[in-house]
Amino acid sequence: MKTQNLGYPRIGSQRELKKICETYWAEKTGYRNVLQVGKNIRQENWKTQKEAGIDLIPSNDFSFYDHVLDHSLAFGAIPKRYNEVMLKKGNSELDLYFAMARGYQKDGLDVVAMEMTKWFDTNYHYIVPEFYKDQTFKLFSTKIIDEFYEAREQGILTKPVIIGPVSYLLLGKEKESGFDRIDLIKELLPVYTDILSRLVALDVEYVQFDEPFLTLDLNPKEKAAYEYAYREIRKTFPHLKIMMATYFEGVTQNLSLVNSLPVNVLHVDLVRDEKQLDALLSGIDDKTILSLGLVDGRNIWKNDFEKSLEKIVLAVNKIGSDRVWIAPSCSLIHCPVDLDNETDEEHLTTAVKQWMAYAKQKIGEVATLKKLITKEDPTSTQKRLTENKISINERHTSTLIHNPEVKNRVRNLSANDAQRLNPFPSRKVAQEALKLPRFPTTTIGSFPQTPEVRSWRARYKKGSINGNEYTRLIADETAKAVKWQEEIGLDVLVHGEFERNDMVEYFGEQLDGFAFSKNGWVQSYGSRCVKPPIIYGDVSRQKPMTVKWTSYAQSLTNKHMKGMLTGPVTILQWSFVRNDQPRSETCTQIALAIRDEVCDLENAGIKIIQIDEPAIREGLPLRKAEWQTYLYWAVEAFRISASGVKDETQIHTHMCYSEFNDIIENIADMDADVITIETSRSQMELLDAFADFKYPNEIGPGVYDIHSPRVPKREEMVSLLNKAKAVVPSEQLWVNPDCGLKTRGWDETKKALIEMVEAAKEMRKSD
Ligand code: GLN
Ligand code: ZN
Repeated sequence: MKTQNLGYPRIGSQRELKKICETYWAEKTGYRNVLQVGKNIRQENWKTQKEAGIDLIPSNDFSFYDHVLDHSLAFGAIPKRYNEVMLKKGNSELDLYFAMARGYQKDGLDVVAMEMTKWFDTNYHYIVPEFYKDQTFKLFSTKIIDEFYEAREQGILTKPVIIGPVSYLLLGKEKESGFDRIDLIKELLPVYTDILSRLVALDVEYVQFDEPFLTLDLNPKEKAAYEYAYREIRKTFPHLKIMMATYFEGVTQNLSLVNSLPVNVLHVDLVRDEKQLDALLSGIDDKTILSLGLVDGRNIWKNDFEKSLEKIVLAVNKIGSDRVWIAPSCSLIHCPVDLDNETDEEHLTTAVKQWMAYAKQKIGEVATLKKLITKEDPTSTQKRLTENKISINERHTSTLIHNPEVKNRVRNLSANDAQRLNPFPSRKVAQEALKLPRFPTTTIGSFPQTPEVRSWRARYKKGSINGNEYTRLIADETAKAVKWQEEIGLDVLVHGEFERNDMVEYFGEQLDGFAFSKNGWVQSYGSRCVKPPIIYGDVSRQKPMTVKWTSYAQSLTNKHMKGMLTGPVTILQWSFVRNDQPRSETCTQIALAIRDEVCDLENAGIKIIQIDEPAIREGLPLRKAEWQTYLYWAVEAFRISASGVKDETQIHTHMCYSEFNDIIENIADMDADVITIETSRSQMELLDAFADFKYPNEIGPGVYDIHSPRVPKREEMVSLLNKAKAVVPSEQLWVNPDCGLKTRGWDETKKALIEMVEAAKEMRKSD
């Protein structure tokens, strides 16, 4: 029996990677220093895993920006537009690499970055490989081999992690028509052969091929590519030990394909799909080793040893202990580095902390699980098992987590609670009392979070200004924003969200059941890290969260002030969620808290309330078969949050750039009176789904892109609105930007919104 790890966080325990990269990009340090920091992080990671007792430690899991980009560089899949960057004197391989990741603007060269997208259903973003018709591959960067060698010099025979050839191709995109990227497999394989030969020459034993696509729905061509690729690799390397890593879903539906692949070890994610174990134990061929992914690589909770041991014993009894390995469910890059760095009591109470485990603790768990089976070091491991039982038990019964009132409320929900009093047509009549013009204008919520505004919050947190001063500063900023919106003639105003750090954190901080870490950083993309809130217990709201600021803003104007809330699905999606109950249940609890807030806003005289749900689409399960279950409870949660109000109260929702075609029915089912969506970058094409569906409620298709400082011209917006009007009746249309304006400066914001208001006026004239 072996233990293995699939990947360790590479940001460094103090986010060293972020710091050195950003210093390098600001040209304040040389590239040798960057390489050195990378080396230190790798060395530290290998040492940590060795000391923890992991048998197979990964290499090539480190990356300066993104591991998919590393592979594109390794395989020479470098788009031609970077040729000049590559050839420019003084530029290193690292400069080329960062140019691909971030674009390059220097000395008259101006090359755009490669596209970035979400890594499966995680919040990690990877750089999408670009493929062209005449695509060729050749070994370019030798990172995979170098890092194996580097570790070997330090006395550790690592298991290099390589994205498997089929998954690598599927992760990419054809940048021109006329070919299918999966057909590039024949071109690509020789580079794998090249890399593997070099590794074999250095006495590599195991190689980890990451093939997460094996857990998804595959078409016949993709299946054939799998068979071809691994048969070829096996032919060339009859003795190489292949560890095939699958994760994020189960492999049961592809079991016959998986069985046909000549691999030595199959790793499966038993956190996401524990049911697959039975199918695998009876269905796997009689030689393959099964690596049980038992320790959750996507969350921050302690492993339940008893439950894991049950599974290990089951596997051992069925296929023998020499064919069972123990591992985390997936790479640990999706969880923070080291819980021991959480020393700040204020941030994370000891009670919650003792239920948690970060990457370093998780590999410790993997090692302990093995020792518990092999009965190595029995006194200390038995003690750990006992401690684990106590901690798990405490979590089951803790009053910090379990709030009977909340559970009762969820239990007593009825269909009516997820239903507005009357259908939209009647509400539309009731909402005429709002006296809004045709093409009403509004914004999505936030106004510029200037360095100044952020500095007030930082000073307040540090204690260098007191609560009263902070409140006064925010109040003044809000008043200025309200006055200015009135002046330029917007119809529905917002308070500007100046008091909010982040749209999820702001609510989490005020809700029971949430905790915040101080060092729980996880890589989101490149040097950007996020620190998700931790939902550990039943969620409830003690008192109103936004009423004070919204009412204050409303008191400054006779126009409508739009209340601004984050929806339950988005709060769920952007947090670490408790794993002791279904996500749907946690989501319903959040929905009830938001519902109370919506009702309180209504009682305070707020007539228009927006509940943002930008994350609803990204919560979609990886496999289509599971979509409807998710969409059912997600839409239901939104409806619960929105349905406590009178017909006259207008509920808005907002969603960022996403494809709506395949879920338009569900979006309509949310039944918001108004939905604002991001459409300008697609020239209103994204609106087609709404038009084809004959979406019945009101829609605000974004008329300009807020992601760039560029000020849109009035005619552009008019032309976009005319496009919209051609497909959606004008009495259904609103006029607004694509998204919130918090990342913009005031100057461009003012200019753009003045033009937008004028564009709406022009539309009214011709209507
Ligand atoms: N109300 C939020 C804002 O304007 C919405 C942000 C979002 O969609 N991500 O900032
Ligand atoms: Zn948005």
